[in-house]
Amino acid sequence: MKNKLTLKRITLLSIATLTTLVLVAFFFGNQSVEDGTAATEMVKEELEAVERETLFIGNPMKLGGLIHETDTEELAEEIFAAEIGAEEGNKESGLTKLTDGRVIVVKLPENAGKVSLEQNLLKRTISVEISTDAAIMLTPDDIYRIQGEKAVSGGVDPTGNDIVNNISMIIGDSDRSEIIFETNEYLLAEGKVVDHFYVITLKRPDELYDKIVVVDAGHGGKDPGARAVDKKTWESNVNLAVLLKLKEMMDENPDVMVFYTRTDDSYPTLDERVNLANGVNADMFISIHCNSSESSKLNGSEVLYNRNQGIENPFNSKELAMRLEKGLSTTLDTDMRGIYAADDIRIVRLSEVPVALVETCYLSNKKDLAKIKSDEGQQAVAEMLYDQILSVYELKENR
Ligand SMILES: [Zn+2]
Repeated sequence: MKNKLTLKRITLLSIATLTTLVLVAFFFGNQSVEDGTAATEMVKEELEAVERETLFIGNPMKLGGLIHETDTEELAEEIFAAEIGAEEGNKESGLTKLTDGRVIVVKLPENAGKVSLEQNLLKRTISVEISTDAAIMLTPDDIYRIQGEKAVSGGVDPTGNDIVNNISMIIGDSDRSEIIFETNEYLLAEGKVVDHFYVITLKRPDELYDKIVVVDAGHGGKDPGARAVDKKTWESNVNLAVLLKLKEMMDENPDVMVFYTRTDDSYPTLDERVNLANGVNADMFISIHCNSSESSKLNGSEVLYNRNQGIENPFNSKELAMRLEKGLSTTLDTDMRGIYAADDIRIVRLSEVPVALVETCYLSNKKDLAKIKSDEGQQAVAEMLYDQILSVYELKENR
């Protein structure tokens, strides 16, 4: 309750200055402070005042403001001086750490306590939580994004030449504050406190893992998918159940890195799903669905693929679809309905990596439903998917 009251008061105070910030950011957002003209100085002062105000906004506040450029070497010297002492060789390695790849550095405020990091790869967000015993003083200038020799701080560089395309903050006045970054690419983050800095190293998944698969459970959340002939089973739940059984097996296999579009009853957009597969450069993108028809007689398994993609790949969508279709009908003992090129299905069409959308069987058919509704049926499909994923890697290695 106390938070809310404080927030209200400060929000009111801030509205006028915020308007100025928006206008100022609009006109000067793209300009560097280095200009040093009187006008820019004035803007800078305004901004600093506003930045202090915006620290107390309760909802995530998108950070704007002026962009500053720094030398990475200068920053490295400051960051690693404490950690490595005066030893010469170590300074070098500190600099290498920063210039090798992409890094975000947050200069922590004095009253910062524990710092933790949470990532949502699907949304490309990284959230850094800083525990505090008071409101923390942190401005956009304390947040550096480093690519090679160049470090930028302050507002997000709108030319796209920035690791992030959005930074927002939730600054509490009690025990926690949060900075949320939205990265331009699908990057995996690892954070470490180095003295009074928080250093976040960002790596492309394919820099870290040789084998990458994306698995999607179709529908979810607001979109339950098809309703089964028993009137109580929904497709989204069946898809998820199969995915979770596959995940259990995959979790035991450190060889293959699997990213899931969802592991609960949520609804990622179609674009979020396919962009994840493309963004992490997956070797395979498998989407789990169940079929349904007006006719209760229709039954069997089918798999959809992208005919336009993967020709240049050593392994393509059609090959993946054929394998999974065979696997499905054998596993569930259902009719093999075949594989279909599906340009009309968005995630199939937009996939740049070998994609297969499996329609395990028909929920509108009583016999099919009994199989896929059962724990054993779901487990069998999950095991088939697991085996096929591994055998595709085997095949690729032998080619
Ligand atoms: Zn579906």
